[in-house]
Amino acid sequence: MDSGKGMLIVYSGPSGVGKGTIRKKVFERFGDKLFYSISMTTRAPREGEIDGVDYYFVTREYFEEQIEAGNFLEYAEFVGNYYGTPKDKVEKKLNNGYDVMLEIEVDGATQVKQKVEDAISIFVVPPSMEALENRLQGRKTEEQEIIQKRLEKARREIVLAGLYDYVVINDDLEEATEDVVSIIKSGHLKTPYSIPAYCKELIKQIKK
Ligand code: 5GP
Repeated sequence: MDSGKGMLIVYSGPSGVGKGTIRKKVFERFGDKLFYSISMTTRAPREGEIDGVDYYFVTREYFEEQIEAGNFLEYAEFVGNYYGTPKDKVEKKLNNGYDVMLEIEVDGATQVKQKVEDAISIFVVPPSMEALENRLQGRKTEEQEIIQKRLEKARREIVLAGLYDYVVINDDLEEATEDVVSIIKSGHLKTPYSIPAYCKELIKQIKK
């Protein structure tokens, strides 16, 4: 890893677990030192979602052109739609020393872990499957068929939680937020991230 590079945080969890809510609270704590990577998707916007803020909403045709052009760090299909991380912005931000968070599903997370060895990964789980189903049903933004598909995908994702570095339980929003904040803070203390921040000057003095 280049010295002074930002940390890549892969952040996942089943649909409906509340990861977006936790993420927003985590961002309040880190301000602009943390950069959120806006994904591209072929899914239709939900009510209130804004193009260029929540996602870049694009057609399947455009998405496939981007795949062909090699413009994604990772991409995956999720319940009938494509989702992907545009590569350029993430690389630029990391090179400029910013931490970058990717909120992505498990297949994409696996691709990132293979490409970026030092990435840290966090998986958010619900306190119970019943709680997850209640949350997904309560959202009322999707058809019943889609909800069932998302639940099926959630079951398949939760059994893969062990692939991640950290697991956070979203039983209490404040506690879950605190857990994610602590993980990010300890990531900074971990090598190789801590070397440029805390040891570079010391090493310079020693080598004098
Ligand atoms: P939703 O439709 O609920 O916004 O997202 C569905 C799933 O796709 C969520 O698990 C979300 O984290 C994931 N997702 C969002 N953006 C990306 C992306 O760029 N790549 C991948 N692989 N998954 C994504």
